[in-house]
This record gives sequence, structure tokens and C-alpha cells, in this order.
Amino acid sequence: MPEATKGRQYRREAAGPATATLLEARGVAKSFPHSNGTVTPAIGDINLSLDKGEFVAIVGPSGCGKTTLLRCLCGLLKPDSGTLSYDGQPVNGVPDDVAVVFQEYNRSLFPWLSVRRNVEFGLHGLSKAERRARAEEALTRVHLADVLEHYPWQLSGGMQQRVAIARAIATHPALLLMDEPFASVDAQTRIRLETMTASISAELGLATLLITHDIDEAVFLADRVIVLSPRPSRVLAEIVIDIPHPRSELEVKALPRFQEYRRLIHDLIVAKEPESADAATPASAETEPERSA
Ligand code: ADP
Repeated sequence: MPEATKGRQYRREAAGPATATLLEARGVAKSFPHSNGTVTPAIGDINLSLDKGEFVAIVGPSGCGKTTLLRCLCGLLKPDSGTLSYDGQPVNGVPDDVAVVFQEYNRSLFPWLSVRRNVEFGLHGLSKAERRARAEEALTRVHLADVLEHYPWQLSGGMQQRVAIARAIATHPALLLMDEPFASVDAQTRIRLETMTASISAELGLATLLITHDIDEAVFLADRVIVLSPRPSRVLAEIVIDIPHPRSELEVKALPRFQEYRRLIHDLIVAKEPESADAATPASAETEPERSA
């Protein structure tokens, strides 16, 4: 069996048949009007989809509209045009089985609640015993079972982000959206969090959409990388990462194929970068997105 096929099979075993579309965006655009009459076009015309159990990373230059796109995809922000569907239904607000992890873990945790109670907090409609069991199970998955009664301020940044991840997975989501979740931690912690996220996502069969500006992180984690243009962003390319799971960081990053993927994505982003640091001029939209395997 070729290596790449083995990788896909691993994910299918973990997630069940990963063929059905879970999330779909068609022609989604969003601009922000300002009080002085000017308008910032953030996302231009986004078409993308995510299958059940699939891990997709979205990369693009800083300020290209990645966060805006994520907020639209999960129903936190209404797009100006286009259609969004989740599990075959139009998106109007955040669907019940979608969980989001943001970069600012220190702002998303309640400092006056213990680690365990922070995780229990998001579990509405369940009995106390069930909330407790789910929180403990999720915290065990992120290797925090020994600090259940600690408070967030007693933990390192990486541990706090693990609490935020536990809070998300304790809701038993079908889709996990992550917005630059590891951007505020040191390099070693980041690698551990990336590896842990990959395992959890595969074990639970979660569809995962990761927003990142880090090309290595995207290639290491994702089944598919979607590359965005400068704003107003559109999809420049979708690249299938043909590297089997489970992936070991050291081994994967040493593969010539890994280097080829990161070079390809880097070149796509740099080639479209405007000369000015602030992407004031919209990128031209003359080409169709590339799809590469
Ligand atoms: P990224 O996540 O890729 O860095 P963002 O989605 O945060 O990009 O922002 C894209 C553009 O939209 C930026 O120019 C940003 O200043 C602008 N923007 C984002 N949110 C708002 C908002 N609420 N009001 C006005 N402008 C916004």
C-alpha cells in the first residue's frame, strides 16, 4: 500500500467515512464599513469545503482576513454575500456541535474558576455528574488530570491553552475551529500542542479547521492546506498533504516532501504579497485556484 494511502486510511479508521461534506462556503464575502465612509474589504469571494473528520489548515499573509473568515464560517459573523452551510443546513449562528479555540486563552478562561469548573462551564443541559465526567475526560486527553483544582493563573500559557482545548472537546463537537491557537506560546510548547491536537483530532474523529500564519504548522498538521491571497482574500490554492498519519514532528519535517510543500505554499504567499506592508490594494483575481496533490 503506498504511504499516502496508508495515511488517509488511518484518518478514516479514526473518523468513519470521511466523504460527506460538513462545512461549505460559496462566494462568501465580508467588508467592514468605517465611520469616515471608507470600507475595508476583508474577504473577497471565498469558496471552500471541509469533509467530516478532515483536518484543514488555512494560511495566508497577516491581515488577509483569516479571522474574519473563521468568524463567518462558524456563524459568529454574518457575511455580506455568499452562502454557508453546515451539515446540509444554512449557517445562522454557531451550530451546537461546533467548538472554537482562540489565540487569547488568557482572555477566554475565567480566573476565578478552577480548571475543572472552567471546562464544566460550557456544558449546559447536562447533569452535574455528567458535566464532571466530561470535564475530567477532556482534561485527561490534554494531560491535565493532575491539576483539576488549580486556577488558570497557576498554570503556564501552554497549559492554559490546553484547558481551552479541553473546554472545546468536552462539548463533543463534530467540528473544531482553531484561530492561531499556538501563536502565543514558546516553540517547544507549540510543537507539543500541535502533536497533541493531531492525536485528539484523529482519536475523536473531529473535523478540524486551523487558521495559522505558520506554514510549517499547516503542513505538519493538515490533510489539506488552503492558501489565501492578500485581502480581500480569495482561495489561491488547495494543497493535499500526502504524508501519512500519525506524523512525528521530527520525521515529517525531515522529509523532502515536507520541504516541497512548505516551499510551494511560501512561494504562493510571497508571490501575491503587495509591496506595501499594509495590503491596501486588493490583490488581482485573475486566476482560478490551483489544486495540487
Ligand atoms: P487576519 O486574521 O488574516 O490577520 P483579519 O480577519 O483579522 O485578518 O482582518 C482582515 C482585515 O479586516 C484587516 O484589515 C482588519 O483591520 C479588518 N477588520 C477585521 N475585523 C474588523 C472590524 N471588526 N472592524 C473593522 N475592520 C476589521
